[in-house]
Amino acid sequence: PVILAIESSCDETSASVILNGKVLNNIIATQAVHQKYGGVVPELASRAHQQNIVAVVDEALQKSGLTQRDLHAVAFTRGPGLMGALLVGVSFAKGLAMALNIPLIEVNHMQAHVLAHFIDPPQPDFPFLCLTVSGGHTQIVLVKSHLDMTVIGQTQDDAVGEAFDKAAKIMGLPYPGGPLIDKYAQLGNANAYKFSETNMPGLDFSFSGIKTAFLYFLRDEKLKNPRFVEENVNDICASLQRHLVNMLMTRLVQAAEQTGIRDIAIAGGVSANAGLRKTLKEVGEKKGWRIFIPALEYCTDNAAMIAMAAHFKYLDGNFSTLDVAPLARMPI
Ligand code: ATP
Ligand code: MG
Ligand code: FE
Repeated sequence: PVILAIESSCDETSASVILNGKVLNNIIATQAVHQKYGGVVPELASRAHQQNIVAVVDEALQKSGLTQRDLHAVAFTRGPGLMGALLVGVSFAKGLAMALNIPLIEVNHMQAHVLAHFIDPPQPDFPFLCLTVSGGHTQIVLVKSHLDMTVIGQTQDDAVGEAFDKAAKIMGLPYPGGPLIDKYAQLGNANAYKFSETNMPGLDFSFSGIKTAFLYFLRDEKLKNPRFVEENVNDICASLQRHLVNMLMTRLVQAAEQTGIRDIAIAGGVSANAGLRKTLKEVGEKKGWRIFIPALEYCTDNAAMIAMAAHFKYLDGNFSTLDVAPLARMPI
């Protein structure tokens, strides 16, 4: 089958065409408008999706060498995400499906982050564990098959991507700060500063404490030296990143031990982080894991992962009706 997939859950408008399970392209328009506000502004996101969606879809179709008439289904992100942003993608998908008289396929964005691992080889074997780390989520997913997954651990408050972005904001770095912390961390000493950990029961996480701890840490240091951040930005970023990565790895190791699973994957925007990738490789080698890390373009939000999920749902005969509505919250 040929499927067109649309992603519009947050601040990237993206479209992708998939042919018999092979992703042909992945067009992404990232919204620059949020940068000056230091975070995603929902109202502006909806408007930018509305402005970008036709061009993005046209480009995906054009680059695939196919036309609307070749499509067997239209897929879209139903949730979780920003309601106004999701509405743009859902409405566009419905309109196109109606006009072409082809089925609609709804996709869960968090399932799609996991299924990004099936876009290119090597692919994990079932069952595997996926640590999904993004701007809105931090979860350990037990993946039993393409469409059967269970969350076995998750954050009780902030997502780890949020912790990266908020810490960056406190340091005065522009949004989104995660990639910048990653960049500076590569030049710094990860043992320069220590932060305390908030412990959650079982396989759950908490990342709201680190934000406050970090704020007070910088406030105290700046009292001693007003130029503390400027002079030590690399060491601060390296130490903070090491701390966040260690919190993730502790739970992932526990999950692997509890389940006996040794195929271990990471997904979501924070899986682009060089420190996390490196630590995962090191720990994986010690533990005898096979590890799976998606290509960078499939870590952050993209429609290729939506297309991949839609392909499996199409094979399953799993279609949506035209009265489907987006969901801001949507469990896996
Ligand atoms: P969700 O998928 O939970 O709905 P989202 O779609 O906003 O949230 P993604 O696009 O998957 O999340 O990821 C964005 C997040 O990833 C941001 O918090 C960003 O700072 C973070 N991020 C991206 N690259 C890196 C990096 N190299 N290091 C650390 N964090 C990063
Ligand atoms: Mg984003
Ligand atoms: Fe995402």
